[in-house]
Amino acid sequence: MKKRVGLVGFGGMGKQHIKRIKESQYVEITGIFDIDSDKDYSTISSKIKKYDSLSALLDDSTIEIVLIATPNDTHKTIAIQALQSGKHVISEKPVTLNTSELKEILTTAEKCGKKFTVHQNRRWDENFLITKKLLEEKKLGELLYVENRVQGSRGIPKDWRRNKNQGGGMLLDWGVHLIDRILFLFPNQKIISLHATLTYFLNHEVDDGFKIEIVFDSLKKAYLEVGTTNFIELPEWYVVGSIGTAVIEDFELNGKFVTLTGELAKEAVPVETGAGLTKTMAPRNDDSVETFPLPYVESNVVEFYDNFAQTIDGKAEPFIKDEELIRLTTIIDACFEASRKNEVLHFPNGL
Ligand code: NAD
Repeated sequence: MKKRVGLVGFGGMGKQHIKRIKESQYVEITGIFDIDSDKDYSTISSKIKKYDSLSALLDDSTIEIVLIATPNDTHKTIAIQALQSGKHVISEKPVTLNTSELKEILTTAEKCGKKFTVHQNRRWDENFLITKKLLEEKKLGELLYVENRVQGSRGIPKDWRRNKNQGGGMLLDWGVHLIDRILFLFPNQKIISLHATLTYFLNHEVDDGFKIEIVFDSLKKAYLEVGTTNFIELPEWYVVGSIGTAVIEDFELNGKFVTLTGELAKEAVPVETGAGLTKTMAPRNDDSVETFPLPYVESNVVEFYDNFAQTIDGKAEPFIKDEELIRLTTIIDACFEASRKNEVLHFPNGL
């Protein structure tokens, strides 16, 4: 029998959860509560019960999982209340506005003997999975440096995302995805330093973008960037390995990778470029490099919900681990601090 889920928050993401969960073999949405009593539920099944308060939803003993899809500042309170009511909880990201709030939730989950997870769904983005696959299969040799960015030109949506006290801003919105994923490309490596610059180009009280540079103990680096004022976008992924480079331009997965086929240090003939002469930057030709299309990857984010259900039954290890969430929020806290102080933060013991 499918586990019954009560959804809290029937906005953009709440609707997306309803659509995706229809494909799950293990969970189904059977109830909803939204604080806005004027919500129009005509687009969803009449079998989904509408509650007029959070406590009414939590009092329903048939609901096993609470799925929180409300603005960022409300996640902690709803999660704790749901856990204390005997429910397992899935929270939208960013799970909380800082690490100490996250720890409060995890402690409550532990005390109540209930499972808690966060919807880090962009681990299932194909562009990330392609990058991971190229690196795992050593197609580019050893990873030296990676850039991941997301850019748009629409500014921040005109809703709670513009309010600081509601957890608005791009670092908490997209930053949690980009930082979460990049750590998987540097397995078993600790962060030794970090710098972040939050941008306020649009003059809101929250950041409309950011630039983050992370240095790992291998001295390999990652650069993460989000912009909301970019009418021309730079590639989403730019991955530099010891014998190749990959580029993924966009969500449509346009891109390629190029690898060395000849000798790495084959002496180049000086060439004229612009008003100068260079050997170092002499372009390569087909004799020494080969260009490939990006590999195909399969991805199905419904696995996220199914894994949580199986975790509750003790049949699977959680995809999203508590220690990953704590590390992620600690890095986010550090990014806010580095930007506020305009300093590179160093972590002598590694982060
Ligand atoms: P939204 O503004 O479209 O919807 C939020 C809904 O929550 C609204 O219907 C609102 O009335 C309701 N709400 C507010 N406070 C509530 C409360 N205390 N109790 C019950 N309902 C309440 O916002 P959204 O875009 O759906 O974002 C919701 C959450 O989902 C955010 O945390 C956001 O970061 C996250 N999100 C995640 C992704 C993703 O890909 N993982 C994408 C978009 C949004």
